[in-house]
Amino acid sequence: MSFGLSQDDELKVILNKSLEHCIEKIVTIAVAPNNLQKVRELTTVHDMIYGTQGIHPHEAKEITEETLQEIRQHINDDKIVAVGEIGLDYYYGKSPREVQIEMFEKQLQIAVDNNKPVVIHTRDADDDTIAVLKNFSSTLKNKGVIHSFTSSLELSKFCLAEGFHLGFNGIITFKNAENVREVLRECPIERILVETDAPFLTPVPYRGKENAPFYLPFVAEKIAQEKNLDLQEVLKITKENALNLFFKD
Ligand SMILES: [Zn+2]
Repeated sequence: MSFGLSQDDELKVILNKSLEHCIEKIVTIAVAPNNLQKVRELTTVHDMIYGTQGIHPHEAKEITEETLQEIRQHINDDKIVAVGEIGLDYYYGKSPREVQIEMFEKQLQIAVDNNKPVVIHTRDADDDTIAVLKNFSSTLKNKGVIHSFTSSLELSKFCLAEGFHLGFNGIITFKNAENVREVLRECPIERILVETDAPFLTPVPYRGKENAPFYLPFVAEKIAQEKNLDLQEVLKITKENALNLFFKD
């Protein structure tokens, strides 16, 4: 965002504007060894911000034993609600596949050991995602969400059968995303989470601008339209879904 303010003040503007749009809780996602601490700080400074601890597959090769130890050490902190985002990304392939798989498994094990849900990123890696998750399906009690779901209908069916939620964002409003809308239409509303993936993937009609939580109603509106549901119903149910996944004791 650029309101000509300091980063801190800018964040306050975004949070206030989000509150005005009835967004009460925000889960901000850790992705790299050097932002684990930043996420924790944000959760302690701002009432409405919650966080995750985990490393994105792009950064898998940067993970050391100390990184994993830091995640383990803080995964039960107040307001840390999940392990993530973790997973496999063979589209960009920024870390070697075998390293991505190893680190995905190690972080899934942290979720198992601490009874936490996971936030999973998967792109162009359907077969290995299924292979890895199959090994954890009986021990991972709290499951989680496949965020920014853009994979195949087949993978969506596997994930739903295993008890995961699917996360949808501004992509579903993009003209060329018919494959994602197909998955959305097949996904029960009780398993849908609405997400930003900020700063990217801002929904139409604000596509191209930096994303923020107060744009979420445009995503919910598209879900309502695609699934022939009432907007208020979509907002209510997807909120309950998020509360059940991340905020139940
Ligand atoms: Zn992601």
